[in-house]
Amino acid sequence: MLPRRSIHDATHDQLRESVRRFLAREVAPSFQAWEEAGMVDRSFWQKAGEAGLLCPQAPAELGGSDASFLTNAVIIEEMFYSGFTGPATDMSVHNDVCAGYIMSYATDEQKARWLPAMARGELVVAIAMTEPGAGSNLQGIRTRAVRDGDDYVISGQKTFISNGQHADLVIVVAKTKPELAAKGVSLIAMETSRPGFRRGRNLDKLGHLSADTSELFFDEVRVPASNLLGPPEGGFGVLMSELPQERLAIGLQSMAQAQRAYDITVDYVREREAFGAKIAEFQNTRFRLADLKSDLMVGWAYIDQCLRQHEEKALSNTDASIAKLWCTEMHGRLVDTCVQFFGGYGFMREYEICRLYADARVFRVYGGTSEIMRELVSRNLDIR
Ligand SMILES: Cc1cc2nc3c(=O)[nH]c(=O)nc-3n(C[C@H](O)[C@H](O)[C@H](O)COP(=O)(O)OP(=O)(O)OC[C@H]3O[C@@H](n4cnc5c(N)ncnc54)[C@H](O)[C@@H]3O)c2cc1C
Repeated sequence: MLPRRSIHDATHDQLRESVRRFLAREVAPSFQAWEEAGMVDRSFWQKAGEAGLLCPQAPAELGGSDASFLTNAVIIEEMFYSGFTGPATDMSVHNDVCAGYIMSYATDEQKARWLPAMARGELVVAIAMTEPGAGSNLQGIRTRAVRDGDDYVISGQKTFISNGQHADLVIVVAKTKPELAAKGVSLIAMETSRPGFRRGRNLDKLGHLSADTSELFFDEVRVPASNLLGPPEGGFGVLMSELPQERLAIGLQSMAQAQRAYDITVDYVREREAFGAKIAEFQNTRFRLADLKSDLMVGWAYIDQCLRQHEEKALSNTDASIAKLWCTEMHGRLVDTCVQFFGGYGFMREYEICRLYADARVFRVYGGTSEIMRELVSRNLDIR
């Protein structure tokens, strides 16, 4: 079970219940089919909208719940704890990353244009930073957006874009003044109905099988300048200001999935027998589970500290990077240990632990790799 923590109140408990009902009703029956199809059915988005799980931070008059990120956090925990990682990832990119950019940087007119449809699940949003030649080093992006009258004309290519197949709106990170390097980057929200835009393959992945992750191609796509998100050439500042929320969200996702892996492992070792005893009775099992339990409790305490800081708008880039680094690395170690307790069954796809193991790997990569997190944390070590 996800631990009950002092950071939450009765409203959060009710929300947990409604997320669990949504998962049982709308996700569990279709999940295996979605994994095989490589993406969720479009109806997932509408149902999530109807259940009130999309864009909780948006103002009530624009379809949201006037909530703070703590509400998003409860949705993340329940979605990821369910083990239905694909739909959980899709929703988190939409709610915690894309809606975050729109809430912080969209004009009132843009918010009114996008947020109500996002909250209803009619407008699915993706964020496109990564390119085949530039992931960690975003300064190396080549996608251009050239100003032409009242439009920007976007040309380039992106890859690994979550929600890439379903997206109706893509927040494109592009160079509007390439000569200014990092200072020449802007964010432009592009409707996917525009001529010149093309989706590439839905990429074949190790895990997160029902999350659509795609290549995107832009061939002189004309987008009105009124779709600029944030200040012109202010793209890097915008990205830097929103990344702490994304990294906190990923840290939390890892905590919830690690908790799930631990819980199903405890259930398994209680039942499985070897040498005439339950696996749970071996000292090795008890000691290793004690280590995992300790990791989880320490992780929840740190993530809650970060959540409190984020509620007070005081979460630093360093703390968010520490949360992402530690929680995702711990998650990787923990799920590996759990698979070992399942013996050969842990290697079988029909066992949930096998899927959780495959799903875990990418948390150390996306949203900034562990090496980039170490780089960011080390900048504030005061050792030079
Ligand atoms: C399933 C999935 C979903 C994704 N979703 C999105 C999305 O929605 N939107 C989006 O824009 N991107 C998305 N990404 C991309 C993701 O953010 C990048 O893959 C990630 O940032 C790493 O970039 P890269 O793959 O180009 O690796 P590279 O940058 O090529 O890195 C390769 C290796 O070199 C290391 N390295 C790089 N620079 C340094 C350095 N300075 N010091 C030490 N080591 C270094 C890295 O840590 C890594 O181990 C997604 C990726 C995946 C796999």
